[in-house]
Amino acid sequence: MNQVIEFIKSDRLKEKPDLESLGFGKHFTDHMFILDYNKVQGWHSPRIVPFEPLVLSPSAMVFHYGQAIFEGLKAYKTNDGRTLLFRPDKNIERLNRSCERMCIPPIDPDLVLEAIVRLVEVERDWIPNKEGTSLYIRPFIIATEPYLGVRPASEYKFMIILSPVGAYYSGRQLVPVKIYVEDEYVRAVPGGVGHVKTSGNYAASLYAQKKAEELGYDQVLWLDGKENKYVEEVGSMNIFFKINGEVYTPKLNGSILSGITRDSVIQLVKDWGVPVHEERISIEDIFNAYKNGELEEVFGTGTAAVISPVGELKWNEHKMLLNNSETGEFSKKLYETITNIQYGKAEDKFGWTK
Ligand code: PMP
Repeated sequence: MNQVIEFIKSDRLKEKPDLESLGFGKHFTDHMFILDYNKVQGWHSPRIVPFEPLVLSPSAMVFHYGQAIFEGLKAYKTNDGRTLLFRPDKNIERLNRSCERMCIPPIDPDLVLEAIVRLVEVERDWIPNKEGTSLYIRPFIIATEPYLGVRPASEYKFMIILSPVGAYYSGRQLVPVKIYVEDEYVRAVPGGVGHVKTSGNYAASLYAQKKAEELGYDQVLWLDGKENKYVEEVGSMNIFFKINGEVYTPKLNGSILSGITRDSVIQLVKDWGVPVHEERISIEDIFNAYKNGELEEVFGTGTAAVISPVGELKWNEHKMLLNNSETGEFSKKLYETITNIQYGKAEDKFGWTK
């Protein structure tokens, strides 16, 4: 069913933030997209309205049982003034996978794409054009039915908000991060919800993240929730290792999020003729590769930072210092190749931008 998106323009446009101090996720644009769900009408009333606080009942189920999911992607401005989205179809597929696992009714992917495109178009003046900046797009769904009792809600809101952003970590791109390998707390378990983007996964990660920060680390590298032995992923990134000229990343096992940057990196690296192994990788194997001088580079991949080189990995009493804590050539090449495609500066041979 084709639904027409209504547009109510804000009559109080905000001042745009200074491009030098954008940070990440601090500023929001003038409008937002809303779509409602109830059992009678299904997903209905798509609209772009002024960005403003929501009114919800304190008994809205999201506050009690955490039925909430979200996505994250970016819009980029090219030098000749076009707007590009990077693989939005993949985010929409993942949104609907998250819906399924969290018992939220799926949304027509064409409507979600149209909503993203229309909202970004309305806010096109908010897309920053300084190098490394972009407009972060945050679609999300919350259970709004006022009810106490554990069951899937019968009312939801799907919304999209936009935030002009700079670099995710430490204000600059490609600065190596320090990672703490967490071997006590876990993020996800087999059969759980680690493979979908539900808010509770992030709430569950905070305690270990706080501990890592107190110890002077930027992020946590999670191990598997069963044996505390196999590498899974970083806070909001997938993880890659370059060992002896070949690339390794944990295979998707049901507790790792299927990152869109991860998939793009795998495709690119294969295209370059470098072998990529998606397999179960123990932290011990990584340490052994390090000791043997075979661990050449470690990097995280995610929408926010694209490629985030790892300068140090701390596992128990072992400190692995990588590439003299400098950005490796392979990480740099991946970052440049992907961002050149995202900003329309290089040929998009995979058809990733829309
Ligand atoms: N893992 C987790 C837990 C994440 O939150 C993210 C960010 N969405 C990623 C990996 C990377 O995914 P993507 O490349 O799609 O941003």
